[in-house]
Amino acid sequence: LVRAEGVRKSYGLVEVLKGIDLEVRKGEVFCLVGPSGSGKSTFLRCINHLERINAGRLWVDGDLVGYRQKGDKLYELKDKEVALQRRDIGMVFQRFNLFPHMTALGNVIEAPVQVKGRGRTDARARGMELLERVGLADKAGNYPSQLSGGQQQRVAIARALAMEPKLMLFDEPTSALDPELVGDVLDVMRQLAQDGMTMIVVTHEMGFAREVGDALVFMDGGVVVEAGHPREVLTNPQHERTRAFLSRVL
Ligand code: ATP
Ligand code: MG
Repeated sequence: LVRAEGVRKSYGLVEVLKGIDLEVRKGEVFCLVGPSGSGKSTFLRCINHLERINAGRLWVDGDLVGYRQKGDKLYELKDKEVALQRRDIGMVFQRFNLFPHMTALGNVIEAPVQVKGRGRTDARARGMELLERVGLADKAGNYPSQLSGGQQQRVAIARALAMEPKLMLFDEPTSALDPELVGDVLDVMRQLAQDGMTMIVVTHEMGFAREVGDALVFMDGGVVVEAGHPREVLTNPQHERTRAFLSRVL
């Protein structure tokens, strides 16, 4: 569903991604781990064209991200076309970025109503289903300030799902949470995985990666150092850099 070939990204003179090759299959939970500054968030942002890559190619579901190819030339897509591509990709960040002036349900139905033109009644019914799915049906009327961090994060997941994405990107969704709230969010993600969602998950939760992940990539310094099945990489890392990293997070 996602393919990266030689993806490079620089900020000014600093190259942050130095040729990333990887493939995420449909229905797969693809875990991305690595030290701070290794380029994980940058890579996720490239997938929905929040960042423009400097070289290489990225595809989501067969479509080139951000560009159209004609002959051997690439043309950048217009903002409207980029927005259409992004609709299919849900993203959940480390910091819960809910709209503070809207209730949980309001947050969930905002995009379907505004972007997809869904009727409010229909959107509310579907929104309630989604809140139920993340275990928060009873909090539909709460504002973000009246929810715990873990609850806010689950609303953020429901909100992303409301657009019926074919791919979900998670950027350290639990790392800003109090430890006792992490489990509920991981449970929702585990359920989502069981339902067949394709997910790319940047995380330091190695237990989750081991249990739920289908593939794990260890990134360092803008390159893929090691890739494989999570159990394989976590129990038998081949590279010194991977071993050093794992000894710090496990
Ligand atoms: P973390 O685990 O801390 O979230 P990360 O692996 O997600 O790290 P990135 O956020 O992708 O790392 O950043 C990779 C490098 O790119 C860092 O050195 C960072 O300082 C740099 N960087 C990221 N965004 C920008 C930007 N907008 N402008 C300039 N440099 C940036
Ligand atoms: Mg990051």
